Amino acid sequence: MLLLSSVTKRYGDVTALDRLSVTVPDDTYVSLLGASGSGKTTLLRVIAGFEEPDSGVVTYDGRRLDGIAPHRRGIGFVFQNFALFPHLSVGDNIAFGLRYREENPLTDTAEMRQRVADVIRLVGLEGLETRKVTAISGGQRQRVALARTLVTEPRVVLLDEPLGALDANLRERMCDELRSIRERLKVTFLHVTGSETEALLMGDTVAVLSAGSIAQIAPASSLFSAPHSADVARHLNAYNILSGKADGGRFLSDCARFVMPGHPAVQDGTPIEVALRFDRIFVGSADAGEAPEASISARFIASEFNGSSVLSFFRAEDGTLLQVVAHLSGPPPESFEEGALYNLAFNPQDIIPFIKRAA
Ligand code: ADP
Ligand code: MG
Repeated sequence: MLLLSSVTKRYGDVTALDRLSVTVPDDTYVSLLGASGSGKTTLLRVIAGFEEPDSGVVTYDGRRLDGIAPHRRGIGFVFQNFALFPHLSVGDNIAFGLRYREENPLTDTAEMRQRVADVIRLVGLEGLETRKVTAISGGQRQRVALARTLVTEPRVVLLDEPLGALDANLRERMCDELRSIRERLKVTFLHVTGSETEALLMGDTVAVLSAGSIAQIAPASSLFSAPHSADVARHLNAYNILSGKADGGRFLSDCARFVMPGHPAVQDGTPIEVALRFDRIFVGSADAGEAPEASISARFIASEFNGSSVLSFFRAEDGTLLQVVAHLSGPPPESFEEGALYNLAFNPQDIIPFIKRAA
């Protein structure tokens, strides 16, 4: 098990990792979700040993990794840009690490051929072994980068935005393949991404990295349905976040006032943020009698079709932007009139309240 304890890494004035602690279990697919600049690459580089932390400890099965050279850590790294040798063939790129490693370089040609052939089969590159890496597709280059790491039999594989350079179709296929390759090898994959969809789809466990530390780590489904903070909810891109205050067991803001079942026991006036899922909002006409108690009145701006769902944007009177998702598997969504007023209603049970921490 890989363990980071209070790891800090600074670059001049920038604190890329800020007392970060996390446990990465064995035999798991972990996705690490974070905005650009949140420290994802730095975290991987510290784990791999390309950077030493300013403070804190990294251990694997209780053994400290600091001071151990990257190639002796048993950790593989698949770089964001693949970093292949352009003048070498697919097979030679994959064999490179075994052939030229400092310790115990592999010289037995038969064994080398066998191991390269095995990993080529594992990642689905059969028939391309002698091809130059400049003469294969982006998706195939991605597989070479993965194969080159896997052939060294690491315990943990770090993948830095591995699907970023691929187009949408290919990305989906590689997602499935990465998961099944990992399952066959029983190693841990730590997959870094800026995409919440990818993080939730890939990870058995999802960690959210925010400003250099782990905001939450949890199984994908519980992270999605029960984020622990407004910050984590924001990363999921599936929740409206409203800012207001507590008022007699209710949430009160300039655009809304509704009961908060299970609300935190706090004094009136305490700053509160509530998260409300895009797909838990029902849009009703503003002149259909009295508005339901848990609702927000807002004007329709625009809709966007995304394959299996429609995302609609509304703006409340105080300027708050609200997003509503209707899944196309349900009843056909109504079309709304631009600029018209609607009631966005919801079940108060679906509200997740958070006490707002001072910045
Ligand atoms: P991410 O991969 O999440 O986009 P990074 O880990 O690359 O984030 O960077 C985290 C922060 O550290 C950023 O503010 C970035 O500018 C800074 N940073 C990263 N590497 C260096 C470096 N070698 N020198 C100076 N600043 C760096
Ligand atoms: Mg990065």
